Amino acid sequence: MKHSLKRGVLLLGAALLLGQGGPGGAQVGAGGAKVPSATGTGGAVATVDHDASVAAMKILEAGGNAVDAAVAAAATLGLTEPFSCGVGGGGFMVVYLAKEGRVITIDHREMAPASFTPTVFLEGGKPIAFGERVTSGLSAGIPGTVMGWQEALRRYGTKSFAEVLAPAIALAKSGYVVDDYFQSQIKDNLDRFKTFTSSAALYLPGGTLPAVGSRINNPDLARTYEAIAAGGAQAFYTGSIAQAMVDTVNTPPVAPGSTANVRKGNWALADVANYEARIRQPTVNTYRGYTVYGMQPPSSGGLTIGETLNILEGYDIAKLSEADAYHRYIEASRLAFADRGAYMADPEYTDVPQTGLLSKEFAAQRRALIGDRAAAGAVAAGNPFKFQTDPSIPLLPAPASLEGQSTTHLTVSDAQGNVVAYTFTIESIGGNGMVVPGHGFLLNNELTDFDAVAPHPNIPEAGKRPRSSMSPTIVLKDGKPVLALGSPGGSTIITTVGQAIMNILDRGMPAQAAVDAPRYSQRNGATTTVDQGGETTPLARALEAMGHKWATTDANGKLALIQFGEGGKVTAATESRRGGGGSALVQKP
Ligand code: GLU
Repeated sequence: MKHSLKRGVLLLGAALLLGQGGPGGAQVGAGGAKVPSATGTGGAVATVDHDASVAAMKILEAGGNAVDAAVAAAATLGLTEPFSCGVGGGGFMVVYLAKEGRVITIDHREMAPASFTPTVFLEGGKPIAFGERVTSGLSAGIPGTVMGWQEALRRYGTKSFAEVLAPAIALAKSGYVVDDYFQSQIKDNLDRFKTFTSSAALYLPGGTLPAVGSRINNPDLARTYEAIAAGGAQAFYTGSIAQAMVDTVNTPPVAPGSTANVRKGNWALADVANYEARIRQPTVNTYRGYTVYGMQPPSSGGLTIGETLNILEGYDIAKLSEADAYHRYIEASRLAFADRGAYMADPEYTDVPQTGLLSKEFAAQRRALIGDRAAAGAVAAGNPFKFQTDPSIPLLPAPASLEGQSTTHLTVSDAQGNVVAYTFTIESIGGNGMVVPGHGFLLNNELTDFDAVAPHPNIPEAGKRPRSSMSPTIVLKDGKPVLALGSPGGSTIITTVGQAIMNILDRGMPAQAAVDAPRYSQRNGATTTVDQGGETTPLARALEAMGHKWATTDANGKLALIQFGEGGKVTAATESRRGGGGSALVQKP
């Protein structure tokens, strides 16, 4: 949800949530409206939605830490950004713990049910059409979000589920106001939501699009959150909510008279009950004196960004012209994406050559392939296995699969120096289109992130997690955070984060300018996808002279970052244009 059209309601909502005057004077922009960037000291919050940022700030003001505040923001986003994320999906959280000086990650990616086999997305030997896979019970993975939140709070938080879910529960009951962006996402999903009785009931009240300015409440989601607040993750993964999810997947609530071919899934209650989040080591690579911490597989984010940066490290980017810097970055992305497509998948099922992919020697070999002109198209994967320090088994390179453009990212820090970078999703905008009846949340279609055709390390298998691109990233210098960031946007997430790191750390670009800059996303194809008119700029003309070709799009992702400066200075920066803009808050402006 975005707030451009509802300042009065927003003021009322903020006052209800925070008490008059806002959170201890925290910056909420002129008249309480959202602002895309904020600078100050103390804690900071960057999300796509003002209600979510306000919820996080409320928890910080109540003495919660960055982990508590991140879960509060995420729960609010599950209500107000329901087409991008929620308890019906999964995600990856990267946490910097200031006291211990270490970074941990929580993988709560959706998981395939035990019934899955490598041929599950084939019919008559051919892949089911992607669009039909999206809107199906088959594509729903066992959600990980609630278990991820629980692990985060239990291990690293200071507040209870009841405390951090309270702002979202209050808003679910009082309702939030529909704006253009929210309405447009329903419009884009009109046929899908009409197909399912439960989705139509929630998002097409009276059978039509909710009017801009009208109010939507979600008492079913309030009850779901209240059950979690009272009973923890167990209340979600067992009992009536688990049963309702299994029923939705195995017998989708298709509206009478619908002719849609909605394939059923095959979940057992045990699949849901057995879901586990994984505490994983982050990917780590050094970059010009910085240390970059990212998400290891099943996300491809950390390794692909790490390889891109390792390749870039061989150039003095700060001294190159803008066009030369972007040329190197685009070509480094191309090479890293070739390796992503070939080698990255769930590490519990595939021997991912992680140390080889992140080795400086491998990067040097890849860098040697970059010339003064753009490659004409896709390049071959490299061979990271000879740079492995462990005995991995080479795999067959294979092409990358399709991914959605949904998802949300938030970044939160607290006054004690803890930092959370958190990306979570239900995959497509609107997930698999099915609201779980009586429970107020959409299920994901994350299992479309598997590659349907073998051989490939990312084929569907029982209990496996599909490869992701989500890239929550925290960068340290001399053991202290300097930048934390992430984005939605399918595989463009990786290039969005990589470009921002280059622009901020190497090229000295101010945080907000780096967020707003047109993005050049090269994912090992003939064209580089450019957004926000970036194909019309002098930079684009200079790159064209080096052989670069463009495809255009409205928006590659939505960055939400926090930059950390001297003397406790924090700058939170979010989109000022893409997707209706984001909301940044700092505790002490
Ligand atoms: N399913 C995608 C992933 O896990 C996220 C979808 C998106 O960001 O649009 O990488």
